[in-house]
Amino acid sequence: MNNPFIRLEEVSKSFGLLTVVEGLNLEIGKGEFISLLGPSGSGKTTILMMLAGFENPTSGAIWAGGQRIDSLPPHRRNMGVVFQNYALFPHMTVSENVAFPLKMRSLPRAEVKERVGKALDMVQLGSLAERRPSQLSGGQQQRVALARALIFEPEVVLMDEPLGALDKQLREQMQLDIRDLHRRLQLTIVFVTHDQSEALTMSDRIAIFNRGKIEQIGKPSDIYDHPSTQFVAEFIGETN
Ligand code: ADP
Repeated sequence: MNNPFIRLEEVSKSFGLLTVVEGLNLEIGKGEFISLLGPSGSGKTTILMMLAGFENPTSGAIWAGGQRIDSLPPHRRNMGVVFQNYALFPHMTVSENVAFPLKMRSLPRAEVKERVGKALDMVQLGSLAERRPSQLSGGQQQRVALARALIFEPEVVLMDEPLGALDKQLREQMQLDIRDLHRRLQLTIVFVTHDQSEALTMSDRIAIFNRGKIEQIGKPSDIYDHPSTQFVAEFIGETN
């Protein structure tokens, strides 16, 4: 790839004797939507945690935007993060939840208000700013988590099974919304899922993981039409 935006170079991660990511090389383009797809336990979340800075690689290097980032703390990486268990604070309003990451930095009130307004508009939640999470649907709550991830206007957003807790109809709507957000904001998105159809419909590229290694990487149509190993053929062929 010419000029990748994110580059993982020979990244390995072990927990004690257990190696969960092994010698991983992966390049991600600016503005790309890439899914990390694979069965449970194949190392996808661990990779996301290393990108976000919540885990350090045991060996190897991670680069983003020309800078080596693997020993930077999470707040210096400017990557938004959205998890399946998005953990909104129940006693805070939507606005307060979205503003929460700004608390660590002493920003003027007017700037906080402007940023929160902008983030809520991005996910079309402006009209619900004063509600509490319990007054929102599951999809709306997930949008609040998205807005919170966008509050620092990151170039990269890392998503770990963000739609796993939603029912099918909502999930399909959110898939469209996330794709739309990706296009509008020209975000680079790294999306972890174990759902083949979700990865196939949403991604520019898919990396299929098996036991901490990439089994195949490519465009959805290439993977679907030409699975390169038995593992990929069986995994892609499974229906949820
Ligand atoms: P996936 O996201 O593909 O389901 P994970 O990256 O969550 O996979 O996990 C890969 C393996 O690493 C699993 O066997 C998991 O139990 C193990 N693992 C993940 N985090 C830790 C940790 N903090 N300590 C020990 N083992 C871990």
